[in-house]
This record gives sequence, structure tokens and C-alpha cells, in this order.
Amino acid sequence: MTRPLFVLLGIPVWVSGWHFLILAMLFMWAFNHGVAFGIAAVLVGSFSTLAHELGHGTVSKLLGLEPEVVLTGFGGFCRHQPAQRPLHEFLIVAAGPAMNFVLAIGFAIAGTQADGLVALVCNVGMQINVIWGLYNLLPIMPLDGGMLLRTGLRKVIRTPLRADRVTYRAGVIVGGLVAAWMLTRGWMFGGIMLGMAALENWRMLKALDVDPARHETDKHARVRELLDQARAAFDTGDYDAAIRFSHQARAEPWLSQSELTHVWHVLAVASARLGEWEDALRYAERLPASADMAAVQAAALMALGDGPRARKFLATPTALLLPETSVAQLRDMARGT
Ligand SMILES: [Zn+2]
Repeated sequence: MTRPLFVLLGIPVWVSGWHFLILAMLFMWAFNHGVAFGIAAVLVGSFSTLAHELGHGTVSKLLGLEPEVVLTGFGGFCRHQPAQRPLHEFLIVAAGPAMNFVLAIGFAIAGTQADGLVALVCNVGMQINVIWGLYNLLPIMPLDGGMLLRTGLRKVIRTPLRADRVTYRAGVIVGGLVAAWMLTRGWMFGGIMLGMAALENWRMLKALDVDPARHETDKHARVRELLDQARAAFDTGDYDAAIRFSHQARAEPWLSQSELTHVWHVLAVASARLGEWEDALRYAERLPASADMAAVQAAALMALGDGPRARKFLATPTALLLPETSVAQLRDMARGT
């Protein structure tokens, strides 16, 4: 695969040779009802996996990411940059199975209007989409269900390491049980796939226990996540949320000095935008002198009409970073009181 096979809805779609293997298996299964039905089942199956991935892709694109869809031997996946917020991640992941259930309803409705081969194809389309949607919702990493569980748990438990442990444990148990059930029913392909996924979840679980460095990385991921959330809230003008996320980030023990500086900066500017001048001043005073912070301090002192503090501020080196007009205004105010 050196380039995408095609681009759909602005999303590049790559197709691995292995994808045709799963389609061939689908053909073998449907072939009993004739060649035409076999071909129709393959088209419907491929279309349904593609629609699932395009569900992920379209939502991630709407949320400002650059997705790519890859169809593989296991169905497919949609890769993109990390989502900006847990809610975005949740929506992107949920859109895949949701797409299958919408298609299943579509096929069911179309099936009632048709007969013969078309009705048969609609019935298979409905079955494939129900099975594919439910299969992907199993709480096993890296299936969508596992990702949704992890995102949800990280929100509830707030300790990424513990949330991941619970997620992988669920993957081992559910994956093992469903795999065993499928194998006893003779569904070899699904059983082997899920058995492998359960093993992988077990491996990840062990890796979490023996690798304390990963623990640290996870802790730190939480800080970065909060900083990203603060930044995103600030950019959309939700200053209250920006302040809340900044305070949460500040409470994290893994915050680095440069991240703390970043937090004070967001707090100072967000407070200023909200007109909470005392807060803005307090945060700005903790930061190294900069033109930005000098402007926040000057605006706060003007808004508060605090002459004595303005006089003190004008005597500091930070005041040198102000434009002349601001200095003159502050000086006038200081003189007036
Ligand atoms: Zn998916």
C-alpha cells in the first residue's frame, strides 16, 4: 500500500490485500445461495465495513482531525491524531457502530419493499450490520467497545492507570468467554480473532504491572489532557471551563515547571477576559515578565482604579514592556488618587 485506493468524503481510504481474504470467506459462506448472492453479499459486506470506518472518519473530520481509513483482514480501522477531548474521542468511536445500526435499519426497511434476490441481500445486509455493530461494541481493546469503556472509565476513575487495568481485565474475561463460545459453535474465524484479542489484552495488563515508566507516562498524559482541555475551552471562549481545567491540572503532582507557567498564563488571561481583575493580577504576578502579562496587569489596575498599586507597578521592570499610552494612562490614574 503506497497510496490510498480512493478518497471518499475527503477521507483517504487504503485497502490491504488481506481485506479481500475476509471478503472471500464471506463469498464462500454466501455461495450456497448462488453466485449472484455471493457477489451481492461481498459487496454489502465490504460496503458495511467501509461505512463503519467512514462513521469514525466523518465525525473525526468534523471535529477538526485528519482521518485515514484502512480496510484490513480484520475489517478495518480509522487512524487520526488524538482527539482534543474525551468527549470527542467518545463520539468518534461511537460513530462506527452507530453507522452499522443505521444501515441495519435501512436494510430491514428496504427488505420489506423487495422480494427474491434483493430481499435476500437486504436480509444479509441487515444481519452483517447488526453482527458487525455488536461485535465492535464488545468491551475488548482495541475494538470500539474497549475504547469506549476506557474513555468512560478514565472519566469516572480519573486515574488512567487504574482505568486501563479495568479495561484490559474486561478484555481478557469477555474476550476469552466470547471466543470460547464462538469456537464451540464452530465460528472459527470470530473465535480465533477474539481469542487473539483476549491474549493481547492480557499482555497489555501484564505490561502495565511491570512497567512503572508507563505508569508515569499515564500520569503525565492526564496533565497534558487537562492542559489541552483548558486550551480548547479558552479557544472557544469558555473561560470558566478554561479556569476549571487549569485548576485541575495545577492539582496534578506530575506538573512540570513549564506546564505550571502555562497554567498561570491561561488563568491570568481567562480571569482578565471574565473581568475578574483581582484574580488576573494575582496570576499575572506569578509569571515571568512579558508584554502579555504587563498588558493584563495594566488593564486590571485600570479597571480596579487602584492608584497606589499602579504606582508600585510602574516602578517595576515589567512596566517597561507596556506601550507608552498605557504607561501614561496608568500614571494619570496613579496621580489622580
Ligand atoms: Zn470501529
